[in-house]
Amino acid sequence: MKRRTKLNVAVCCVLLAVVSSFAAGQRYEIGIPDIAGYKTLKCDFHMHTVFSDGAVWPTVRVDEAWRDGLDAIAITDHIEYQPHKNDIPTNYKRSYEIARGKARDRNILLVKAAEITRDTPPGHYNALFLDTIDALDTKGQSKAEGQAAKDEEFLLAIKAANEQKAFVFWDHPNWQARNGGRVWFDIHTRLFKEKLVHGIEVVNDGTFYTDSFKWCLERNLPIFGNSDVHGPLDPPTVNHENHRTMTLVFAREKTLEALRDAIVNGRTAVWFEDKLIGRKEYLEEIFAASVEVKEAHSKYRNNAYFEVHNKSEITYQLQKISGGGPSTVVLPAQRTVVLRAPISEEGAVDIAYKVTNLLIGPAECLKFETTIDIGG
Ligand SMILES: [Zn+2]
Ligand SMILES: [Zn+2]
Repeated sequence: MKRRTKLNVAVCCVLLAVVSSFAAGQRYEIGIPDIAGYKTLKCDFHMHTVFSDGAVWPTVRVDEAWRDGLDAIAITDHIEYQPHKNDIPTNYKRSYEIARGKARDRNILLVKAAEITRDTPPGHYNALFLDTIDALDTKGQSKAEGQAAKDEEFLLAIKAANEQKAFVFWDHPNWQARNGGRVWFDIHTRLFKEKLVHGIEVVNDGTFYTDSFKWCLERNLPIFGNSDVHGPLDPPTVNHENHRTMTLVFAREKTLEALRDAIVNGRTAVWFEDKLIGRKEYLEEIFAASVEVKEAHSKYRNNAYFEVHNKSEITYQLQKISGGGPSTVVLPAQRTVVLRAPISEEGAVDIAYKVTNLLIGPAECLKFETTIDIGG
């Protein structure tokens, strides 16, 4: 009898340990809707750990991602910059290996990745979906000298990523901008022309590169927005008011294969501060899936009153283009507002707004037009 009690206590302790390790923390689900046929995966493809110049252990990145409501991350430690190497020996694949088990347990897709790191130009490049990160370390492989050796070794690293069919995107293009802010050089023309680089980070942490957004639209390249976090991340506040910058990927399902397919086919957008940045077709669908304009519930003195409900995480800011309704409207996240608009002589209520925080071009907002059903 005594023995059994002891055993029960032991079993309880083990169970408690197991339960507590899984119950630690809470996940915030981000209310950005799925769009026709695709899941909206919330992703951050740029972050660092102690294995390069970051200040946290790789598993912490997974815990943060889970807490923040992310679906996929890439740990992108620098190949060429390892300031902690006297304490933590260079081991390019180690941050991925350490984070992998935790990512599996937390249902986070972990992309094997690294950051190719050079002064500007050419700048920094993240390679996603790598097989062997070690192959990107090309230092000493050129027989040339000085700048020529640096240029050749950079290209060898980018090509080594491409040989593994990695997806390579240009990070924070304006970082270290030289020659009076010049960002685009001949090397960039070559990288895109030869399809060695396949996308651009249009937002890095708190900086939005409008030129980069324009280049992506012109060249039909996927856009990215990432945290590039180095230290520990603060938890988001209510309604994610201080959420990290992230990439939205419209994927058929939550798997690494579907994630890759979506990225390669350009199905991405960016959530940055209060803004969504992306191609018209995706932002239009997100807005439509977020906002319901109900039929008029009352009429008074030739005005119709109707409700507009926003079920998403994003507070939409509207500015009137034409038609009835107030000149500006705020549709707060997860709230309903009542609007009043005049009924026209034809007996209709037409409204036309631009959504000023949905950016479909560097200086272009999504337009939203509808006719309100005013009933009998
Ligand atoms: Zn960088
Ligand atoms: Zn970085």
